[in-house]
Parts: sequence; C-alpha cells; structure tokens
Amino acid sequence: MWNAMSKRPPPATFGRGDVSVLVTLAAYAAAFTLIEMLVVLAIIGTMAALLLPALVSAREKARQTECVSNLRQCGLGFEMYLQEYNGYYPVVHEGTYLEHEHHEHEEHEEHEEGQHEDPQEWWQFLAPYGVERKHLLCRSDPHGDNLHIESYIFNGMFGFGQNQAILRRPDQKILLSERSDDERSFEHLGYHSWLPTDEWEHLIAKERHGKASNYLFADGRVGTLSWETTQGERSESLDSDMHFVRRFWEVYVPGISYEEWLEHHEEEHGPHGQP
Ligand SMILES: [Zn+2]
Repeated sequence: MWNAMSKRPPPATFGRGDVSVLVTLAAYAAAFTLIEMLVVLAIIGTMAALLLPALVSAREKARQTECVSNLRQCGLGFEMYLQEYNGYYPVVHEGTYLEHEHHEHEEHEEHEEGQHEDPQEWWQFLAPYGVERKHLLCRSDPHGDNLHIESYIFNGMFGFGQNQAILRRPDQKILLSERSDDERSFEHLGYHSWLPTDEWEHLIAKERHGKASNYLFADGRVGTLSWETTQGERSESLDSDMHFVRRFWEVYVPGISYEEWLEHHEEEHGPHGQP
C-alpha cells in the first residue's frame, strides 16, 4: 500500500475486489474537496476583510448624509419661523443672558423642590414648519433611538428672541450642534456659548461622524466640520468663533463689554467655571 504521507496515490489497479484502492481514491477526492473548500474560505475571508471596512464606511456615510438632511430640515423650519415672525428667533429663554444665568440658578433650586416647569423647547417652535421627531435623531448617535433626547443641541445665544438681521455673518454662526453622549448633556436643551468653552464643550459631540460632526448655521447651511474649525477668536476685531455671537452680546447686553464681563465671571467662577 502507498504511504499515507506521499503526495500522490500509487497508480490504481482496479482488480476485482480491490476495495482498498477505491477507499484511497475516495480519500484523495475528499482531501481535494477540503483543499478547495479551504481555498474558497480563504478567498471569502480575504474579500470580507477587504469589503467590511468599505461596507461600514458606506453605512456611516449614509447616516451622515441623513444627519445633514435632518439639520437642513431644521434649518428650513427656522427660516420659515423667521419669515413668519419678521426675523425674530423664538424666545426659548426669558430675559437676557445675564438674567438667565441667575434664573437658571433659581430654576435649579425650584426643581429640587419639585416646582419646576418645563420650558418650551427649541424644536417645538419648528413643529408647525415640517420638523418632525425623526428629524431630531441622528442614527450615528448612540442615543439616536431614544425618543426623549434629541441628537441636536441648540446654541443658547440664539434663544433670547433676537432678530436675525443684526447678525453680521449668519453663514459663520452655528445654530445647532450634535449632542454628546455624555449623560450630563441630557438635561440641556442648549449650550451657553457666551461662557468660556471649557464650561460647555462636554455637551457637544465633536467626532460624531468620523473625525467631524455636523453643524447647522444661521443661514441654513449645514457643515461637516472638525471641532477645532468651529473654535476661533472672540475679540472685537475678529469674531471668528462659530459658537459665540459677539453681535448679539453687543446689542443684548448693553453697558458691559464682553471682555469685562468675562473677567468678572472668571473671578467669580474660576477660569474653568468651578465656583
Ligand atoms: Zn449626526
């Protein structure tokens, strides 16, 4: 008989009753099939390894596109609202920025006593203009299936009923950002972008889609930007920060310059907002 370690079986002689040759041939055929199967599996494995990242990135790309279209829908909602109300943004917060800081403190105390009433949320103002619940959820947001938490968070500087006409560069000012999955963000409808950035940046998803996130700007455009791109100077000569709106500060907080106020705020709360 042939050695099982040899590569080829010996030439078969089909003698009458030579069963062992047939068994050997069957083993050879089975072995060949196994090798074929392994080759096929290896090819499938290689193809899957090559295709899977492409499939994952295609899925993420689709989600990102859907997120952009959600934000565009919100942008259209704001535009229609502004048309109906002569350019005025909805009043999400009562009072001014400075009063609001004070009110929020009081509301927090009332909340602890169980007397807190929910304010009108920014997206409720957009409901009559075609913005539905589905437009508030990003599928790349790990909480995007939570019907109670919107994937987008409002730039609080727009929430005091200002007129859009006083904005110098609406195409450079962010109205909505993507919400972070930090649980501290769940109790916030908006972020106070007039405060130092390190006091609210944990509320923003900085890398929701790859290394960037989507932002809705005040002119209705949607940008996919890195967090760093949205950061800039807040000086009088160069208002390049996309979250802070110096023009609103100048008009709505008369009598105290932003720099003066900021200095006072940092004296009171420390440079990182910790009292
Ligand atoms: Zn998104």
